[in-house]
Amino acid sequence: MVSVVVPIYNEEELIVRFHEAVAGALTGVVDDWEVVYVNDGSTDSSLELLKSLQSVDSHVVVVELSRNWGHMGAISAGLQTARGRAVVLMDGDFQDPPEVLPELIDAWRDGAEVVVGVRRSRQESRKLLAFLFPLFYRVLGTLSDYPIPLNAGIFGLMDRKAVDSILAMQEKSRYLPGLRAWVGYRNSIVYYDRQDRLAGDGKLSFLSRIKYAMDAITSFSYKPLRLSFAFFGFSSCMAAILELGMLTSRDPVTSVALGVTGAVFFIGSLLLLSIGVLGEYIGRVYDEVRNRPLSLITHVHRAPVQMASPLSVVARPNGTYPVRSEKGIKAA
Ligand code: UDP
Ligand code: MG
Repeated sequence: MVSVVVPIYNEEELIVRFHEAVAGALTGVVDDWEVVYVNDGSTDSSLELLKSLQSVDSHVVVVELSRNWGHMGAISAGLQTARGRAVVLMDGDFQDPPEVLPELIDAWRDGAEVVVGVRRSRQESRKLLAFLFPLFYRVLGTLSDYPIPLNAGIFGLMDRKAVDSILAMQEKSRYLPGLRAWVGYRNSIVYYDRQDRLAGDGKLSFLSRIKYAMDAITSFSYKPLRLSFAFFGFSSCMAAILELGMLTSRDPVTSVALGVTGAVFFIGSLLLLSIGVLGEYIGRVYDEVRNRPLSLITHVHRAPVQMASPLSVVARPNGTYPVRSEKGIKAA
């Protein structure tokens, strides 16, 4: 079974059209499928629409949240509910095109365990966001401690193994595209053109996007914590240059001025060094608190169990060997 998880917040204009498109894309491609719609505390008629969809289509699963928890909260709830061997995550506003679903499923059937939807192009009517999205991906790409595919949001497919690995992680500030990259497994990329939202307005506030970006960077990079080491380097060099200036200057006024400024830089560098050391400890505390596993096992390959034949001598698990007797094989 393939599950498709879709967060829904006030999408009454789109739900029915969206479901038709998803059902059309999946019918004939997979035998068994479900679409898990997570109603994230909608205040319009989205929930009623979802329930009436369910009454006519048994592929529909509706998850109701107690209030509006935000995009990531809704997706987490959907991931927990989905029962498929593969789970697709997508938005319900046609920005992640339903017609790409068969491609994601084909890649999974070809052996990929994580299929990432990467935007070949993006139609974005909101100018500020059109400018900020690529900037964000560039900053994240530079800072991240390991590679996260650029220009990839939540859209993609994960095999049950990857879903369970992500669900096992209890960290609260989740940046799913990052976690999906972090768990590893066999990856593959499907390129798609990201459309503009088909109807209605974007539901994520600017502030929630900033928080999301901060989550992404702080969850996957220590580098901001190490910034003070760079400043420490600058400050101590300045201190050395200024103190050298003090020693070599013949003018007493200049010499005192250089000496005092140098001392300020010196004290500053000591403070920055201490902050850097503190940052290192905080980073380690952060690691411990997040409690991410140290590694994830995909397979354990063992030599196939050999069947004992009267002519072969194979050790049993308890360390005894079969021996031959008149009646056949008996334990030694
Ligand atoms: N959404 C949600 N909870 C929210 C905001 C949005 O479940 O608090 C859903 C929304 O219905 C849509 C998806 O998350 O299916 C993406 O939201 P949106 O299109 O507003 O984000 P954008 O594409 O502008 O980043
Ligand atoms: Mg959208």
